[in-house]
Amino acid sequence: MIKRKIKLGQQEISYTLKKRKGQRRMKLAIYPDGYFTITAPKWYPIYAIENFLREKAQLILEKLGGNFGNENIFKNKRNDYLGKKEEARKIILERIECLNQSYKFSFKRVAIKNQRTCWGSCSRNKNLNFNYRVARLPNEERDYVVVHELCHLQELNHGKNFWQLVEKTIPEYKKIKKKIRKI
Ligand SMILES: [Zn+2]
Repeated sequence: MIKRKIKLGQQEISYTLKKRKGQRRMKLAIYPDGYFTITAPKWYPIYAIENFLREKAQLILEKLGGNFGNENIFKNKRNDYLGKKEEARKIILERIECLNQSYKFSFKRVAIKNQRTCWGSCSRNKNLNFNYRVARLPNEERDYVVVHELCHLQELNHGKNFWQLVEKTIPEYKKIKKKIRKI
């Protein structure tokens, strides 16, 4: 799996490219949260894949609810976020409190956001941001995301020290990390 970007119309679109041996045709999958995967035959060169995406640009942008998009999809996504945000905040704050007990890191603000491509982030000013969908992840994946961002309060990069901190509370982090998309 490779993460790639392509410009379609005015928008830069991120997608995950999977290449499969037995695959004969291009297959697109656009999930409700905007996660977009392309499965291509193993031998397909990247220019052929990109040409295909450009041909389908209109459809893709519609499904993704972008500028040229389907109003309803866009609206539903926004309503889902507004409806679930506070519940997600409660769950995430509770997990932060619990998982931060061994670290005792200090931070300023926790924001619950509706990001399309990332699960969470941590700013230099010690503010934590979480995607509201984190609350819906399976427990071990949810906790991994929380611990990952907490550890960025001390280590801003993904160096050896960072992963040692993560490992303190999530010894199986490597396995869990593979299951969810890169953060
Ligand atoms: Zn990170």
